[in-house]
Order: sequence, then C-alpha cells, then structure tokens
Amino acid sequence: MKITTPRFVQPVSLPKIILFVMMLLILPFVLSSPKNLSTAKGVDAVGGPKIVVLNYHKIDNMNISLSVLPQDFEQQLKYLKDNGYTSITPMELYEAIEHGGPLPEKPLLITFDDGYDDNYRYAYPLLKKYGFKGTIFVITSFLDRGQQGYITWAQASEMEASGVIDIESHTVTHGSMTEMTDSDLRRELADSKKDIEQRLGKTVNFVAYPTGTYNLHIASLVKEAGYLGAFTIKYGNVDKASNIYAIERVPIFHTEDTYASFLERLQYIPIFERLGWIKS
Ligand SMILES: [Zn+2]
Repeated sequence: MKITTPRFVQPVSLPKIILFVMMLLILPFVLSSPKNLSTAKGVDAVGGPKIVVLNYHKIDNMNISLSVLPQDFEQQLKYLKDNGYTSITPMELYEAIEHGGPLPEKPLLITFDDGYDDNYRYAYPLLKKYGFKGTIFVITSFLDRGQQGYITWAQASEMEASGVIDIESHTVTHGSMTEMTDSDLRRELADSKKDIEQRLGKTVNFVAYPTGTYNLHIASLVKEAGYLGAFTIKYGNVDKASNIYAIERVPIFHTEDTYASFLERLQYIPIFERLGWIKS
C-alpha cells in the first residue's frame, strides 16, 4: 500500500515562504528607489511638476563651504545642461505655482544670495555660456555704499539688462527678520524693493529671507509690501503644495567632494519629500 502525505500538512513549501518573506523585506527599497518614482521625472501625484531651486552664495576660489569654486560651478552647469534642465525666472515659478502656468520638462531656478562681486566675475559669464538664467538677491544698503566684495549698481544694471540675471531683494541690511519690529520689517521690505526698482527700472516681486529666518507674520508683511513670493533656505523642491511666501531651495556648498554632494542633493530630494521629512 502506498502512503501519500496529505496535502494540507504542507500547504506551502519552505522555499516559497522564504521567497515571500524576502519580497516583503525588499518591498520598501523597491518603492523608494528613484527609478520607480514618478518624482524622478519631476512629477508628483499630489504636487504636480517639481521645480528645483538651487541656492548658491559665492562662486570663488576661496576654500570655504559658502564658496563654490568656478570650475565646480561650471561642472554643475554642464551636468544640468547635459541632463535636460531648463532654467526659469522667479516670475515663471510664481505663474506655475499660483496659476498653473507652463513649465519646461525639468524646470530649474538658479539663485544666489547676498550679491557678491564674484557672481558678476564668475557666475554671470558661466550662466551665459551654458544658456542658463540666474537670480541674484541683493542687500541694497551694501550696493548703496559701494561695500567691498559686493556687486555695484552698474554691474547689477548690466546683468539685469542682459536678460540673464534677475535682480531681486535680500532686504536693506540683511538683519534677521525674526528679531525686528514691524516698522523695521516694513521698512526693510519696502525700501529695498523701491531702491532696486528705481536704480534698475524694473518691478521687484521677490525677496529671499536673510539667513532664511521667517515666520507666518513676516510672510504676511512680505505680501503686504507687494511682493509676489519669498524664498527660504528650507530644504526641498517646489510644487503646487509649496507656500509661495516660503519657497523651498536646495543649498549647494563647497565640500570635500563638491560634485558628489551636488548630485546627491539634486537626486535624493524626491525620496525625502515623499516620506514627509521635508514639508511636515
Ligand atoms: Zn544672505
């Protein structure tokens, strides 16, 4: 007589269970891999198209984190060019976020804070060479008194007229806005706006918060002063879920391996954002 093992004793073979457990274990990695995310292509199910806003300070040969070497900056622009990024203006960002205006496939905003004279010497010609636009947030009292190390009004005017650079406000004194009285805040916002507008014959619609510090009350005063938007140093990409008075940026620094850090920051943001570590 032949004895067979009843089927119900071993409903699933051990190798199958192991396979199933392994699949469960690798599932989170598969889901968080940039390849499998629509965000890798700059689109998100909730926020729509993603805009990368890079934030630089100095482009110079100084060995400090705030100063990206000109050759490193050029290497980054080359990468952005080769990988299909198109630079937009703050106005195009505003139109896209607030009114659903059109965006190129990989929209990019290149910003510089403080208005260092190396922006004119190195960044401006390199942006022109690679066909990119840039935005410089200037501290108006520094330009007014011809502060050493910062661009002049003549340079600001030349760059603005070229169509390559958009000059916007970084307030009058660069003081921390969370430490100021309301009348000081109003003066910083209104006077810097008016100064640039009169010197360059343009409308100033955007401000970058000095040192990135702001709160909802300050944001309301920015709006009241007639600005359409404000840039923070909050790390992240911009989409329809962004607050136009608290626009995220990706700071780029000089590091031990500036190019690797740049690529990391450019590529890993969608994952962090998706897990809610950035905007929460
Ligand atoms: Zn600054």
